[in-house]
Amino acid sequence: MAKRRTNEKKLKKQILSAVAAVIVLILAYFLEPWQYIGGESEPGEELQVHYIDVGQADSILVRVPTTDGMKNMLIDAGTAENYPASNITEYLSSLGITSLDYFVITHPHLDHIGAADEVINMFEVQTVIMPECEASSKAWENVLVAIDENDVEADILDKAGDTYTMGDASFKILGPIDPVNEKETNNYSIVMRLVYGDTAFMFTGDAETDSEEEILKNFSRSEFSSDVLKVGHHGSTTSTGEAFLSAVNPSIAVISCGEGNSYGHPHDEIIELLEKNGVEILRTDIEGDIILCSDKTKVYRPNSN
Ligand SMILES: [Zn+2]
Repeated sequence: MAKRRTNEKKLKKQILSAVAAVIVLILAYFLEPWQYIGGESEPGEELQVHYIDVGQADSILVRVPTTDGMKNMLIDAGTAENYPASNITEYLSSLGITSLDYFVITHPHLDHIGAADEVINMFEVQTVIMPECEASSKAWENVLVAIDENDVEADILDKAGDTYTMGDASFKILGPIDPVNEKETNNYSIVMRLVYGDTAFMFTGDAETDSEEEILKNFSRSEFSSDVLKVGHHGSTTSTGEAFLSAVNPSIAVISCGEGNSYGHPHDEIIELLEKNGVEILRTDIEGDIILCSDKTKVYRPNSN
């Protein structure tokens, strides 16, 4: 009897180890290598920010690696002369993107929303984030209709302060502080800071210095510091006040603007201010699409890691 029990125990043990081995094999098959070598980041698994060249307009794609694959966020989908909506939709499709986890619409100007309805119609958008604002253009109406017809969840912000997450990245809405009483359309712009590990990216839409100053008053200084600043309002002197720039203290500034645009963006004063502060300037009118990556410890351009 005693002997038999021992054999049963042995058999049970053998079955258990066989089951454990199978489980380990299944896990190893499904998990990406970096998950079981201790979270070390491998090439191709970094966060990417694509400042898409859309001429005198804005459109920025953020891609965050997660265990379920890449999560995608689009910030603005602007159109401009010679830069139709297909410029953005084709860019997303060429990367194999079929859905967006977030689509942030900073404010209702054509150079930020011209392709927004097409994006919402063509891609599966989980959540649209937009400021609470009044606008009466055909383009804005098209965006609202697209949101409605596609039954997209819309977070309409009537205040700043909300934080969203995408995998290991998170972003906090810093502005606008008081959209309900805002009169200048640019100042409806959603200003947000994305954090990934020790690195951070600031996005500003076309927020002007009035909005920058309100935001500075409302949040502590530690909420601004960023490696990369998307320069407000295409490098116009209406934005990027010295106080805001000093709080963000970026090492890289990205300016999204069109070659030879009629506004003269970026303005010389802003270029000089950035240079005086030792900030590296990257411009879509000169370089075309600009991609920056983060491995949680540093920001770099692809292939220069
Ligand atoms: Zn703009």
